[in-house]
Amino acid sequence: MTENETQGKQNATQYDYSFDYIQKKLEGKKDSFGMLMKEIIRTGICTECGTCAAVCPVLEWDDLLGQPKLIGKCTGCGICYNQCPRTITDPVQLMGEFKTGYVSNTNIPEVIGGQDGGTVTSLLCYLFDEHLIDAAIVTMKDPKKPWHPVAQIITNKDDAIKSSGSIYSHSQTVEALMEAIRQDYRSIAFVGTPCNIDAVEKMMSSPAGMLKYFMRAHILKIGLFCMDSFAPEALYPFFEKDGVDLSKVKKMDINKGKFHIYYDPQGEPIKSYTIKQLDKFKSSSCNFCTDLTAENADVAVGSVGSGPSKNTVFARTGLGAEIVEDAAKKGYLTIEPFNAINLNSVLFLAKLKKVSQYNIQKRKVFIVRDNEETEPRVETGPEESQAATQPLGSRKFLSVSKEIDEKKKLLNISITNTVGYTLEDIKIRVVVVEDLFEKRPWITTIRELFPYETIEIGYPLELMGNEIIYGNVLVEATTDNYGKIFSRTFKLAPQEEK
Ligand SMILES: Cc1cc2nc3c(=O)[nH]c(=O)nc-3n(C[C@H](O)[C@H](O)[C@H](O)COP(=O)(O)OP(=O)(O)OC[C@H]3O[C@@H](n4cnc5c(N)ncnc54)[C@H](O)[C@@H]3O)c2cc1C
Repeated sequence: MTENETQGKQNATQYDYSFDYIQKKLEGKKDSFGMLMKEIIRTGICTECGTCAAVCPVLEWDDLLGQPKLIGKCTGCGICYNQCPRTITDPVQLMGEFKTGYVSNTNIPEVIGGQDGGTVTSLLCYLFDEHLIDAAIVTMKDPKKPWHPVAQIITNKDDAIKSSGSIYSHSQTVEALMEAIRQDYRSIAFVGTPCNIDAVEKMMSSPAGMLKYFMRAHILKIGLFCMDSFAPEALYPFFEKDGVDLSKVKKMDINKGKFHIYYDPQGEPIKSYTIKQLDKFKSSSCNFCTDLTAENADVAVGSVGSGPSKNTVFARTGLGAEIVEDAAKKGYLTIEPFNAINLNSVLFLAKLKKVSQYNIQKRKVFIVRDNEETEPRVETGPEESQAATQPLGSRKFLSVSKEIDEKKKLLNISITNTVGYTLEDIKIRVVVVEDLFEKRPWITTIRELFPYETIEIGYPLELMGNEIIYGNVLVEATTDNYGKIFSRTFKLAPQEEK
């Protein structure tokens, strides 16, 4: 090693080493052409620039298919994958910038055995004890609705300890932050998921940011890693149907692709589900999120990359690093150095998050219509009793609109899911309403309606000879979980001539 190299090595930070290390891990060890096919070609985001074929001796551009083709044996050298303009190969792109990282766990007896390593709660305890903050924004369980999140302003260590634990749903933390500022708190620790952190970051730094100009406060952003968040209105009825008593649940956690539910946090889970099983309850916005590790936080804390009862911590700003290290020095936390983090598992998950949105395919409208039948299908069986009233107050599940197709003699009814999660087994009933009677009932079930997806139903209109009889048509929708979610009578009239 030359003198310069030795000097350079001495000057290099832990940060530089970590990124060298990650870079090596990214290169060459996998079947990179397979990865390219999976992430870029099959998902339809290939730009057809041909770079992959241009740099690899065993790849050729297939003009007919508009994609690369193997003409020899792929050695997995990674060249093609690492040149493609659409792959994400730079570690900074995967995990964001950070000063350094730690594996950490709490030393506070009441916090041990909490969510993971108890790092977030311990940092809040340290910040209150040291009078570095006068308030913190946390998320606690709603006392009226089990496991529903409520964002709270807290002002002491005891409440910080009470707030520990993760609730895997969106929490309106910014609302609580604004309220804290209105109440004149000026040094605030803000705990939130990456999307919460992004909101605060934008409010603090964008040209029209509310916190930049009008409501100044010192805000320490403590971010939680986050892969998915779920809609409680959809997820919890599913758990309850499967025998889970939410009032007895003491802990939920996500670990290695599984969602676990515990009555006893120290014991075995009473139920475990694969994340795939729960995918339909995921908030639709998570499909578009690319930030696993709270890239805009001062300190980002997660569980992936560290062992049980420990946290992976990234100190992204100087202030973040100072706080973690001082909390450790004063005995609130035990920290291990950066190289204790299993970066491969963090990178793997971060990459899944970055590329997950490539897999979103906008589902096409499909038509529930039987062209062979001119008469509606009539069901004469007794109607099932409807479930209790919807629990979500005025929340609108469906948006329904109609249009008459005079040529085909059909009433086209478009049904759109307006909630951000998948609705299942929606029973649709369409019926002509006369003064005293209903006739021509047409009943069908939509098995799954994805967020913001529209399904069109063609309801054959009543005819006199070849002329449409215009009348009143009632459209109703019910689900087992929510009862009646839509009911409206449409008055039909001939379309005006254009
Ligand atoms: C929706 C969600 C998804 C997550 N997904 C992952 C993941 O995929 N991989 C991973 O490594 N880690 C994930 N985490 C983070 C993980 O669950 C822990 O929160 C993190 O490891 C910190 O652990 P801890 O022991 O320090 O937490 P604790 O010391 O128990 O502190 C947890 C803090 O989180 C706050 N909080 C709880 N629920 C919410 C919420 N919904 N919104 C905002 N703040 C909340 C609490 O107020 C508390 O201050 C997720 C967290 C959430 C909320």
